[in-house]
Amino acid sequence: MAKILVIEDELSIQKLLTYDLTQAGYEVDNAYDGLSGLKKAQENEYDLIILDLMLPKLDGLEICKQLRKENNDVYIIMLTARDDEIDKIIGLESGADDYMTKPFSPREVLARVKAGLRRQKLNSTEEHTITLGNLMIDLNRHEVFVKGRLIPLTRKEFDLLLFLIKNKGIALSRDVLLETLWGFEYDGDTRIVDVHIFKLREKLVNSNVVIVTKRGIGYMLEEVYDEVQ
Ligand code: CA
Repeated sequence: MAKILVIEDELSIQKLLTYDLTQAGYEVDNAYDGLSGLKKAQENEYDLIILDLMLPKLDGLEICKQLRKENNDVYIIMLTARDDEIDKIIGLESGADDYMTKPFSPREVLARVKAGLRRQKLNSTEEHTITLGNLMIDLNRHEVFVKGRLIPLTRKEFDLLLFLIKNKGIALSRDVLLETLWGFEYDGDTRIVDVHIFKLREKLVNSNVVIVTKRGIGYMLEEVYDEVQ
């Protein structure tokens, strides 16, 4: 049974989430402020965390950053009260995997939780490493190396890279990327895909892979070979 931690100070939302998730068969743990939430996340193994942005004592961004700093790669869905906050959060590279604006329907929550847990599982496949030129991916440890140097990637960037690699040489539309990586359509808003692609490109600049923009379609990963050795 997947274990989910909900960090949220609004009692009504806590109750609703706990009810919906428990009904769906998940084990739910609760925290009502940032500090106790962070502590629970550090002391327990969760499969997924639903994290409110505005929290007493310590906000969601800080919790996220702290967990990533400790190499905790638990899947995090960030809750925000306003739509326009999502852009801000993405810009801050919080390390969250997904974002959801209040109010949300139980159906939406469950869809995102399911998608998150599926991504988590997908990453723990039987192969251990993938190598493309100077790029090496350790699938067990979720680590990416370029020329032997560790490249810090967020969970979502890692998933995105893996999916692009598995579809090497195939042009993938933004919609496909959105649906695969985020589980379902974000009201057709694909900016989140572009933002993640740009960040990934920057981080992989010295590697033997490039993410090519296919005009009018989306993106495609290609392997490039050093011309000068
Ligand atoms: Ca709040």
